[in-house]
Amino acid sequence: MYYKPLVYLLFFSTPWMIWFFGAANYYSDYISSTYFSDHEEQNVVYDFIVVGSGAAGAVVAHRLSTSKNIKVLLIEAGGDPSFLNSVPGISADLIGYPETDWMHMTVPQKHACWAMKNNQSMWNAGKVLGGSTQLNMMFYLRGHPADYDNWANLTGDVRWSYENVLPFFKKSIKSYNGEFSDNKKHYSESDYGFLNIEQRRWLSLYEEFKESGEQNGFPTIDANGGSQRTGFAKIEATQKNGERFGTYSAIILQLENKPNVKILRYSRAMKVKLDKNLRAEGVWYMQHGVKKFARAKKEVILSAGSVNSPQILMMSGIGPKSHLESVGIKTKLNLPVGENLHDHIMTILAPFLINQPKSFLAERDFSPAVIYDYSVNGKGPLTVPNALHSQLFYSSASVRKSGVDWPDIQGFFAPAGTQDVLAKSISRGQNIREEVLYPLLEPHFGRDSFVILVGLVRPKSRGNVRLQDKNPLSRPLIDPHYLEHPDDVAALVDGVKKIVDVFESSEPFKKLETRLPKQHTKGCEQYEIRSYAYWACHIRHFTLTIWHPVGTCRMGRVDDKMSVVDTRLRVLGAKGLRVIDASIMPTIVNANTAAPSMMIGEAGSDAVREYWSQQFHVSNLWDYTFSLKPQAKCYYSQLV
Ligand SMILES: Cc1cc2nc3c(=O)[nH]c(=O)nc-3n(C[C@H](O)[C@H](O)[C@H](O)COP(=O)(O)OP(=O)(O)OC[C@H]3O[C@@H](n4cnc5c(N)ncnc54)[C@H](O)[C@@H]3O)c2cc1C
Repeated sequence: MYYKPLVYLLFFSTPWMIWFFGAANYYSDYISSTYFSDHEEQNVVYDFIVVGSGAAGAVVAHRLSTSKNIKVLLIEAGGDPSFLNSVPGISADLIGYPETDWMHMTVPQKHACWAMKNNQSMWNAGKVLGGSTQLNMMFYLRGHPADYDNWANLTGDVRWSYENVLPFFKKSIKSYNGEFSDNKKHYSESDYGFLNIEQRRWLSLYEEFKESGEQNGFPTIDANGGSQRTGFAKIEATQKNGERFGTYSAIILQLENKPNVKILRYSRAMKVKLDKNLRAEGVWYMQHGVKKFARAKKEVILSAGSVNSPQILMMSGIGPKSHLESVGIKTKLNLPVGENLHDHIMTILAPFLINQPKSFLAERDFSPAVIYDYSVNGKGPLTVPNALHSQLFYSSASVRKSGVDWPDIQGFFAPAGTQDVLAKSISRGQNIREEVLYPLLEPHFGRDSFVILVGLVRPKSRGNVRLQDKNPLSRPLIDPHYLEHPDDVAALVDGVKKIVDVFESSEPFKKLETRLPKQHTKGCEQYEIRSYAYWACHIRHFTLTIWHPVGTCRMGRVDDKMSVVDTRLRVLGAKGLRVIDASIMPTIVNANTAAPSMMIGEAGSDAVREYWSQQFHVSNLWDYTFSLKPQAKCYYSQLV
């Protein structure tokens, strides 16, 4: 039975539903915050102000608010997500709507993104409570131990080594329902946890995938078990009974009931106010078009993500002096804010055609039974975003030469049939011109197939985030300099060649007569198909973001000119101001970045709590009045 009309009805009604729920949430918050809010609250001075409620910010607000006498204000630019966000199967169709997505755009790229409109990559990011964990594809991956040992080396602080961050990963876990629960060292559940982790609940073609890995030297690995080496693995995800379980469901809903936490929705932080001693006094923000100020007694913590945290810092006068001057902002602290931007990218290999109905072809397979299976049993294709259920890791030639298996390639496997709605969804979500994408897919519409996305997860290219002007509401200028470094192209070409070889030549896929059609990518006709130059050209056309920007408020040694924050995540030279989110990563981890960002939220809030518990001791009234020790008078003087 064919359900094409149902698929199209859902596909075309999604934008309207997003608009409807977005408008309903916005206006109900407008009415309640304008007419029914307690105006006395305007005068409350909070202990901590946290800006941004995403992967890191929600964790920070949660951990700080466990002390009942601490008042926390959480400022979030978006509102509540709708029930649509909880359905993993439609995740890819939820990105690209301003109701819940920042929809940042990079500047046109010289070396990459040639298949995109105006050579610009669209950077989706959650503008909603729960941040990007409400919009993401829910992969739960921590990264290679070497990623964190490298951070410890670069920053000179062993607290960021793998052994020392592992407890923070585990602290977040409330319930682990994956296949490695025996591995207690890595998966023990915590009484203080909030996250639910499970495997995808639809695994079509997984056996073939796994067997072809084993035949080609890719063992099945426990990717979060301290051995994220070359191999194949199922994806573990932040889901509960098949539904999305981001920081909104896991944390924010609980925070709403705490009397010592105030959450401001649709409130966009614009600047941090610094006094003459460079202490953060509070935050200027815009709520429903009205400019307001919130005051912090102890600290302001920016957790607005890798694009917005540097924007807020620069608006506050903290950034590269020459750049701030060029847009007319007086520099208060000259720091390399916005530099060191890097991101994971991927290229698309599609369609690998197969001769059996084993992929999910929505026009054929989507039916009321699929909806029933999802809503009643929490199973089936709707529990999986874009059919992405498995992954692989591979160390390209240059990494192999170094002798350490620290993969720089991550592949994503999706048994998705080739069809119009898939093409439309990829094109819309990644800003790809249909005239470049369609020639690859259209001849095969209606066929069973799978798609492989080949990701570069240890890129060497570096870019920056800058201000366009001194208006805090203007879009920042984002230039990731994608594929500028020649090693990035070489690694991706190596990964692409290996993956095509594995999937076309292994027995299980040969049985399915698997083939990636030998058709030229538009714009690469001059190259011999599948040659190095051809793949390089394909990659430079299809340079898709994996939505993992990091590094723009780099953590590092206090005397390192590249550092913005120290290893306790304090902004260098300022007082009472930290950045706790993905932007502090000195180098990107070779994994999807949500779990590492939550870990940063855990480690950062631990540092805040540790500091303020010491502060309590040194600043009690007796010591303050009678002690002769200078640190008893003002602990802060020790920090800068
Ligand atoms: C489409 C998509 C798919 C992804 N897939 C995965 C995946 O499968 N697995 C994975 O591990 N990672 C994935 N990621 C990446 C991951 O979600 C992010 O790396 C992670 O959420 C970053 O955490 P963060 O706290 O730094 O920022 P965010 O989670 O983005 O949170 C930032 C928050 O700050 C708010 N904010 C920003 N500016 C302001 C302001 N001025 N005032 C007030 N509030 C503000 C935002 O609205 C947002 O709520 C994906 C991301 C996207 C966008």
